[in-house]
Amino acid sequence: MSAVLGLTDKGDFDWVRLRGLQYAALARLTFNRAYSHAVLGILVAHMYLEIVGPLWIGLWLAVLAVVHIRGAMVDRRFADGDRRKITTAERYQQATTAFLSGLLWVVPLLLFAPMGTASDSSALLVMVMILMAGSVYFYTTSPISIMIFTAIVGGGAITQAALAGQWSLIGAIVIFMISTTFGTIEVARRFLSARIAEDCITEKDEVVSLLLREFEENEADWLWEIDPLRRLRSVSPRFAFALNASEKEVEGQPLLELIAGDNWESGNFPPSLHDLAERLRNRENFSNFFVQVTIQGIDRWWELSGTPIRDERGKFIGFRGVGSDVTEQRESSEKIAYLARYDTLTSLPNRLMLTEALGEALQYSSHWRSKCALLMVDLDRFKAVNDSLGHMTGDKMLAQVSSRLQSLMGDNAMVGRLGGDEFAIVIRDASDPNFLRGLTARVIQLLSEPYSVDNHTLYVGASIGSAIGPRDGRSVEELMRNADLALYRAKDVGGGEHCQFEPALHAIAEERRQLEVSLRKALDLDEFILHYQPVVDARSESIVSFEALVRWNSADHGFVSPGKFIPVAEDTRLIVPIGKWVLLQACHEARNWPDHIKINVNVSPEQLLEPDFHQDVIDSLAASGLRAERLEIEVTESIFLRDATIARNALEQVMALGCSVALDDFGTGYSSLGYLRKLRFSTIKVDRSFVQGAAQGSNESLAIINAVVAMANSLDMTTTAEGVETSEEAELIRNLGCDKIQGFYFGRPMSDSDALKLFKDGQQRKIA
Ligand code: C2E
Ligand code: CA
Ligand code: CA
Repeated sequence: MSAVLGLTDKGDFDWVRLRGLQYAALARLTFNRAYSHAVLGILVAHMYLEIVGPLWIGLWLAVLAVVHIRGAMVDRRFADGDRRKITTAERYQQATTAFLSGLLWVVPLLLFAPMGTASDSSALLVMVMILMAGSVYFYTTSPISIMIFTAIVGGGAITQAALAGQWSLIGAIVIFMISTTFGTIEVARRFLSARIAEDCITEKDEVVSLLLREFEENEADWLWEIDPLRRLRSVSPRFAFALNASEKEVEGQPLLELIAGDNWESGNFPPSLHDLAERLRNRENFSNFFVQVTIQGIDRWWELSGTPIRDERGKFIGFRGVGSDVTEQRESSEKIAYLARYDTLTSLPNRLMLTEALGEALQYSSHWRSKCALLMVDLDRFKAVNDSLGHMTGDKMLAQVSSRLQSLMGDNAMVGRLGGDEFAIVIRDASDPNFLRGLTARVIQLLSEPYSVDNHTLYVGASIGSAIGPRDGRSVEELMRNADLALYRAKDVGGGEHCQFEPALHAIAEERRQLEVSLRKALDLDEFILHYQPVVDARSESIVSFEALVRWNSADHGFVSPGKFIPVAEDTRLIVPIGKWVLLQACHEARNWPDHIKINVNVSPEQLLEPDFHQDVIDSLAASGLRAERLEIEVTESIFLRDATIARNALEQVMALGCSVALDDFGTGYSSLGYLRKLRFSTIKVDRSFVQGAAQGSNESLAIINAVVAMANSLDMTTTAEGVETSEEAELIRNLGCDKIQGFYFGRPMSDSDALKLFKDGQQRKIA
């Protein structure tokens, strides 16, 4: 109670502020107080004017006026009480008004009333009581003043009643005073607790806004708020910034109109904005909602969360939430999504996107009972470009390949890159077989045209394997596997071809797999033997060498031709141990022949890439005791396609030992005379196809043989014609100037004993 009366400041409250608030409230009531005192004062003066006399009445009124004018001036100074500390002196000054005006009202009670009538006294008493009751209102926030005023005036009234002998009236006055006092204390207490509660709320508000401000400062997020008509309310600077306007400009503006841009007029909102409008209309909660907005003509993405807000009575008063501009994140995530679906080098769709497109095409074709197709496109001899000119050139070339492919695509076809030099084309509707045939032919033709990269003119070819969905595969995986098998096939037949998948390819692949299993055991099982085919001098027709040709008599597969198992051995690198065995075996056998007869051994590129190839040669020569000059290694142009320098170094090391190197199957593979300058070959072997071609009168074949012979002569190399089967062919070849001849006409590949027999009966005679 003492705290309420302002005598002590108890409790953990900001009393300075509370008292300030109390006194500030007084300032607003001071006029009412002066006014009511004036009215009642004039009434009293009117009642007692004749009895007391104008002098005394006038004096009384004047003093009353002075006290209240001073009181009003004191109270006025409290107007800013809520912002400063109220001093004790000020409190005394304030209380003085109550004290003095109390005393002034005792004057009519004790001095005027005894002179007047009883009814005048009663009227005076009522007026005094009105003042006492009024003081509860006028001094509401300064209970101590009320107490002082009530005590003095009440005391006066009691005294007056006692003098008049009205005892029961005293009781009424006392009860009135007691209730006034309790009323005063109660009102003051309520005032204070209301202020304290208010204070707590403002404090909380401040904390909340502080937190929010911090939240705003730390994050790129802003707060937004709208009223029930969806107009912006309490726009924060950050939100205004997001709207590219000042707070004033957008305050009270309809949110949707601000973010819809030109769409506002047409009502043609982007779907996300439409959704937002819908949610606002339905007063629904939403969180992390992506909205496409247009801020002053620029498209942005916002992420918004919002909650409908309601007042204490549950009335909807709008929305409040947080938002942020996520345009950049979205763009970068779109970029990531792009990178995940497109190949960076060529900008073509990547494997992921291709498989998706293929999945859709498959669905489409099973739905419409049509056909789709997958083409696997692989460049022929691309490795050579990469290896000889570097990856930069290779990449530039791939980019050109991509744009050529892209130029052939229409609505019905999509091309993408699977990786390396492998591309794929998904054809949505492949019901028309002519379309497929036409497209594959155009692809092979266009990709085989020369490329100009970094001042080089480059040639590659293309092989295609295709599979038709759903016929050749009901799933993406199956179609891809089968198109791959077809591609494998196309490569196998020499490239530059389109092969369609057929179930037999599975059988071929399976056979190949089984071949591989058996091949792994073949060396241990001693299933290989060597046959030897004689090579004769074109003029004298005497044997100059034998070519060692490996034969495999498999326990599982019977006799398997080298044309079939050598590629498998090369793919699996089993050719390395097999080749090593051949080399040793051939050297051993050659020791049984006359000393001038050479031995030709075929060596695959894989063998040359082995770091200890030349050591194998040394070991074989040493173990057999064969002179290095009698050994001729046969390699094909394919050695120049992969890691050319390693292969070349290996061959140069072997040549340094004294061995010679022949270039086998010349003209079949890559047909670049440039290869001939890269290594000092001793012999060029002209492929059988040219011999056959020349025999059938092909001018091109004749020209090529002529050119090779001329070239070899100028480079100090010899030539061997392969696959001569008749005397006519032998005659033709001799006339074309080839130095040596190999072919069935002079001898088939034969067993070691048969080869040896050639020397035993009739040394070095003509075989034929
Ligand atoms: P290649 O090096 O061109 O061997 C010549 C092939 O032509 C041999 O086939 C031979 O039998 C065949 N041939 C020879 N004269 C005639 C003829 O007048 N008419 C016809 N139609 N064919 C003739 P083969 O023995 O089947 O060998 C095929 C290929 O296998 C060889 O072609 C060679 O590239 C590879 N090869 C054979 N043995 C080995 C080996 O030990 N190591 C490696 N790496 N490859 C080998
Ligand atoms: Ca050969
Ligand atoms: Ca050959």
